[in-house]
Amino acid sequence: MNSLERMIRAEIAAHGPIDVAAFMARALGDPEHGYYRTRDPLGARGDFITAPEISQMFGELIGLWCAEMWRRLGAPRPIHLIELGPGRGTLLRDALRAIAQAAPGFRAALDVHLIETSPVLRTAQAACLGDAAPTWHDGLASLPDGPALIIANEFLDALPIHQLVRTAAGWCERRVMVDATDRLAFAAAAAPSPLAAALAPEVVGAPLGSIAELAPAARDVVATVARRCTGAGGTALLIDYGHVVSAPGDTLQAVRGHRTQAVLDAPGEADLTAHVDFAALARVAAPHAAVHGPVTQGVFLRRLGIEARAEALLRGKPAGVAAGIRAALARLVEPGQMGQLFKVMALGAPGGRPLPGFEP
Ligand code: SAH
Repeated sequence: MNSLERMIRAEIAAHGPIDVAAFMARALGDPEHGYYRTRDPLGARGDFITAPEISQMFGELIGLWCAEMWRRLGAPRPIHLIELGPGRGTLLRDALRAIAQAAPGFRAALDVHLIETSPVLRTAQAACLGDAAPTWHDGLASLPDGPALIIANEFLDALPIHQLVRTAAGWCERRVMVDATDRLAFAAAAAPSPLAAALAPEVVGAPLGSIAELAPAARDVVATVARRCTGAGGTALLIDYGHVVSAPGDTLQAVRGHRTQAVLDAPGEADLTAHVDFAALARVAAPHAAVHGPVTQGVFLRRLGIEARAEALLRGKPAGVAAGIRAALARLVEPGQMGQLFKVMALGAPGGRPLPGFEP
């Protein structure tokens, strides 16, 4: 048993079972032992790989998309380019290189802000993005006011979720306790949870035994981001794996060394994520901002011209390198790979025309 599990058990012994959100917050964010606080999880030798780590094309296309958004906002100076959970900084590095070439006016007008809690990843971001002189923030509260372009790739899926179980008593919080065999285990609370009031109509009527997920932390982030998009205030691009329609289901998963493992095993040593409910987030954003999409990542990247970019990169490359570029392209856009499961949603000023990638 690792130290974090010992701490979680002590907390349960003292105060009773903890909810899934509390478990996830501890496993990912405990200041001393939390998964994101202690390691760089990305890459072949890490636990998982993300789109910007697969190919430079991903960040480049998003950079060009941001340049177009800046023009549509009226080319404000300065403009904040904000990334939530930037990982190693790869996406922004590729984006800034493309922006410097294609839109030098935008490059000169922008300043970079990174929301990151992991000291390990902040160090990686400083090494990757040092030339761009980023400012780091622990959360959205300290971000400067003013026009902003906000990017989040695989950030929302890392925020704690609650799970509710439909029992005879109603929708009850799913909690983590220590069972009769002295292992961490799930058990539903006896009384219904007040959180049930936030369940989508498509979910509320699910049969006994169903699990429903609620992500108040992701909703808060999206509400804050959406409010910034009012007027000419900004545009946001949210990319994550998840679903377009709210539905019941247990999507919480633990990944370690590119394999899934039991969610409650070795807390702090595996990445914990849950699918993003884009319909729920769209409902939160809609009072403040125009919601574009979600569309699948495959559709979005193809509309942005990823195939032409791949062709340009392929030119004159030896066969081995060319095969790598083709494989990366397929990985990003093919339905059986990341093209279908990953969704892209944008928030912008109310009114106006469709944004690139989101044309009807
Ligand atoms: N966007 C990157 C990394 C995704 S991993 C990529 O696509 O490669 C999730 C990122 O969010 C990591 O940088 C992680 O440290 C950060 N993160 C997770 N929870 C966070 C929180 N509560 N506040 C700020 N950053 C967080």
